Amino acid sequence: MAAELIDGKKTAELIDAKAGEAAGAIARIIGRKPGLAVVLIGDDPASDVYVRNKVKRATAAGLHSVEIRKPASLTTDEALAIVDRLNADPAIDGILVQMPLPDHIDTNAVIGRIDPDKDVDGLTPVSAGRLLLGERGLRPCTPAGCVLLAERAVGDLTGKYVVVVGRSILVGKPAALLFLEKNATVTLAHSRTKDLPALCRQADILVAAVGRPGLVKGDWVKPGACVIDVGINRIDAPERGAGKTRLVGDVDFDAAKETAGSITPVPGGVGPMTIAMLLVNTVTAASHREGLEAPG
Ligand code: NDP
Repeated sequence: MAAELIDGKKTAELIDAKAGEAAGAIARIIGRKPGLAVVLIGDDPASDVYVRNKVKRATAAGLHSVEIRKPASLTTDEALAIVDRLNADPAIDGILVQMPLPDHIDTNAVIGRIDPDKDVDGLTPVSAGRLLLGERGLRPCTPAGCVLLAERAVGDLTGKYVVVVGRSILVGKPAALLFLEKNATVTLAHSRTKDLPALCRQADILVAAVGRPGLVKGDWVKPGACVIDVGINRIDAPERGAGKTRLVGDVDFDAAKETAGSITPVPGGVGPMTIAMLLVNTVTAASHREGLEAPG
């Protein structure tokens, strides 16, 4: 039987709407909308699309959103000065600096400069430490989106066996910690893991965050498992015409859907959840900064 499709787009729309309601409720108390600043340095076309979507969805949800665009020639000191200004701006609750930065800019210095209480991307060392310690803080958006989709598909994650393939600081590692926080039992796999197919076959929830198209084969999936495919890979699609491309995940979707109980498509799975969780984080940051309970 084919797997249930986990609709990330629809879920993201619901979360956007909830974040918008919460933003409205907070605005009525504090007299201003929760504010998000998105900083784009350089002219990377993919980053340009991401930033436009982030600002568009934040604005649609009723957040105060600011877009700051700077040329690739910006220096590290100038980038730090922008972060300092946003850190000090009382109307801004969340700061997101779009990655990747131009090579000559010190990325760690720029990320590390963001006030952790405004770190809506959850990428500062302080946010990572808070996650590790289980303290209140802002969690990275894509991994948080993975956990939410898995919860919607499977329900309570307590005692579930989760295998996360990929150990990046952006996705794999924080995803493992977030699933652990939900009382799942987690294995973090990577390029040196032995017998990855056998390991994956044991997973109740299989998360692929690798960046290799179709790495996870259909027979790596336990019957009935929940498959969360984080990968976004652009591949040639000659069937669509000469020079055409299409997006695929890290999972061989057509094969895996025959075995899995539920599965995220690419596109339309984890992807749309990242911005939804960014809006949630901005609302949460505003609540915390204003001494309010964060909305559930
Ligand atoms: P990275 O390249 O930073 O990390 C990839 C990880 O996969 C590494 O830990 C690597 O292992 C592991 N890996 C590579 N090859 C294999 C293999 N053959 N078997 C097992 N593990 C392997 O990627 P990211 O985590 O940044 O991104 C992963 C994917 O998720 C990409 O396709 C990216 O586009 C997508 N993505 C999607 C987002 C979204 O939906 N919004 C957001 C962020 C990323 P090792 O550490 O040993 O080298």
